[in-house]
Amino acid sequence: MSYTCYYCEHESETAHLITFFQGTEEKNELLCSSCYADWLEGLKVEP
Ligand SMILES: [Zn+2]
Repeated sequence: MSYTCYYCEHESETAHLITFFQGTEEKNELLCSSCYADWLEGLKVEP
């Protein structure tokens, strides 16, 4: 089974579930490995 990455819309065999807030709504989305790595990098730079 493969997944479609929420960010780059490529299909990925490995999916990472992320949770974030869009406004006041909590969203759960799947990211591929490379987008997940970028997302983690983004978290690191936040205060
Ligand atoms: Zn991706």
